[in-house]
Amino acid sequence: MNIRARKIYEALFALEDLREIFRQALPTGLNENEEAQLLDGIAHVETIIRELKEGKGSPIKYVEDKIELRTREEEFININAIQPGGRLTAEARKALIAYGDGYSVCDKCLEGRLDKIRKPPVDKFHAELADFVGMDEARVVPGARRGFQAVASSLLDKGDVVIVSDLAHYTEFLAVENVSGVIKEVPSGEKNIITGDAVAEKIENVNEELGRLPKLIIIEHFDHRFGNEHDVYGVGKVAKAYDIPFLYNGAYSVGMVPVDGKKIGADFVVGSGHKGMAAVAPSGVLATTDEWAPKVFRGSEIVGDVTGRSFKHKESEMLGCTLMGGTLLSMMASFPRVKERVKRWKEEVEKSNYFIREFLRINGNKISSEYPRKHTLSKVDTRDSFDRIAKTHKRRGFFLSDELKRRGIVGQFAGSTRVWELNTYGLSWSRIKYLSEAFIEIAEKYGLAAI
Ligand SMILES: *Cc1c(COP(=O)(O)O)cnc(C)c1O
Repeated sequence: MNIRARKIYEALFALEDLREIFRQALPTGLNENEEAQLLDGIAHVETIIRELKEGKGSPIKYVEDKIELRTREEEFININAIQPGGRLTAEARKALIAYGDGYSVCDKCLEGRLDKIRKPPVDKFHAELADFVGMDEARVVPGARRGFQAVASSLLDKGDVVIVSDLAHYTEFLAVENVSGVIKEVPSGEKNIITGDAVAEKIENVNEELGRLPKLIIIEHFDHRFGNEHDVYGVGKVAKAYDIPFLYNGAYSVGMVPVDGKKIGADFVVGSGHKGMAAVAPSGVLATTDEWAPKVFRGSEIVGDVTGRSFKHKESEMLGCTLMGGTLLSMMASFPRVKERVKRWKEEVEKSNYFIREFLRINGNKISSEYPRKHTLSKVDTRDSFDRIAKTHKRRGFFLSDELKRRGIVGQFAGSTRVWELNTYGLSWSRIKYLSEAFIEIAEKYGLAAI
């Protein structure tokens, strides 16, 4: 346990208690009792700060009854497959402190529309977001999945066919299911990579089988199972040739990899705030072109029979407003850094390859993802190395997680020693090197030679 990391939490919590005094007091000022409380509270913060400075005292374990402190980003290197891109920036954590209250973004809402709020600059953020992914219009949504849902619901009728990858994320299936659409999967083949040709072939198959063309193509730039790069440019061309709208699933790219939707030939770009944009969950982005915006971001048309009420300025797919507080503000606060970090994607890939190269020095280790790596998410195969140790170890598969944890590394799926995923996104070179050495050290400890 890192006492100082935990003292920082304790100090932050103690400061929140001070903040609470002001939230209860009259706006004219604190009364005698509250002043005394404040002084006591400040003394408490000072004690904690002293302990922090000295690295002493007892570490706290809970936020609140039964809610454990979450310190995996402070006390460990986290190689979890889905978490690194959504790790908050310090700016996002500050925004969360300031805008954590429920509908906090609505203080100065003049038009009843989230994307038109000017203070904080939500309207400007929307314009920049569209630009960031190379599209015309953008909305924030509660997760990439809600982006798929809005598009599926706008474009599809019952029985309409949607082309997805055989590696597609389940949320694409569910978005299509909710509007009674039909899923047709494109095979990614032996290489586990989707090509434009494979998509074209599937479209032809569907046309032959059902006598109609698919209504939508959804393909991810990088899939969540292998982190392989799929030929989205090729898919974009095929989509244009058949005049079928193409939703580019950027859950594992937007916010980490430079994305230019129009250049790719996408009609929709969907990204995930909590997977790729250093934002609080659930958050994400749905961006589109001027051509499709009126359809997906159409205004409500419903009218009440008694009151005659209508809500023309509310967008029905967004159910009016989407991210009304800490989620959106965390996204906005991280955005300047996110815009910068996508420029460093190449180096992220270099670090990923450095780690995998070292990892593959361990006798029996294999990589299931394409190699060299083009992403930081990788699927590795340790059936001929760590799994062989697990077979006779008294902790079975948990031996590897134990050994990693002992070295301050978490995020590997506990107990898995066969085929599993890891993600090195955002780790510094020194952490990458430490991580590489840790695996080699563990291998050597169990007699697996590193070559
Ligand atoms: C994570 C993921 C999603 C879901 O993203 P949310 O923002 O959690 O809805 C969709 N597609 C792919 C490929 C993913 O990796």
